[in-house]
Amino acid sequence: MSQGTLFIVSAPSGAGKTTLVRELIESLDGIQVSVSHTTRPRRRGEVDGVNYHFVDTQTFETMIARGEFFEHARVFDNYYGTARPAVKAMLEAGQDVILEIDWQGARQVRSQMPEAVSVFILPPSREELERRLASRGTDEHATIARRMRDAVSEMSHYGEYDYLVINDDFTTALRELQSLVISRRLGVARIRERHGPLLEALLSQPPAVE
Ligand code: 5GP
Repeated sequence: MSQGTLFIVSAPSGAGKTTLVRELIESLDGIQVSVSHTTRPRRRGEVDGVNYHFVDTQTFETMIARGEFFEHARVFDNYYGTARPAVKAMLEAGQDVILEIDWQGARQVRSQMPEAVSVFILPPSREELERRLASRGTDEHATIARRMRDAVSEMSHYGEYDYLVINDDFTTALRELQSLVISRRLGVARIRERHGPLLEALLSQPPAVE
């Protein structure tokens, strides 16, 4: 069984990352999103164990102390982290795995697994990002300004990633993400692991003709 590929996907809030990733995993077989742990309160419509594993700070800190996280970070006053065992099991089962994490987590993953493929999703323009952040509920001006500052800070790390996808036209951005996943599956090492008998059969010499 060949190992799956680990994909890191980061983006500022408002870039459309969650919707793109959801469509990506629905459109392709053999790829899953890792469910992170977080201490942030659950938002309306979110389901424990599906969107996140929602835990309290003490539980999270105990998990840190036990070394259970592959990566973890404080993002906007809350803890977020990826537990190691689930990701390892999915990769070993040959599944591709997506980590939807911030730039701090991305750095930790890269240092432990340099072969991970990292993608940063950008909004199409500053104006569109502002519009998307402002349209999230009836928020106050100060909250929107803070979201914008956080978004700019996250985006300042785009240069640390392998690939950039600009989410202007959704269908185009989705196709670009699909292409990245598919191109990794066509690497010689992975094809060799999955189709060893075929390669052997193709290369065996026919018997000499008398
Ligand atoms: P939200 O609270 O809006 O769902 O996510 C806030 C930020 O936390 C996003 O930038 C998201 O990518 C990041 N995040 C979510 N899960 C993880 C995780 O497991 N690790 C890290 N480092 N960041 C995460």
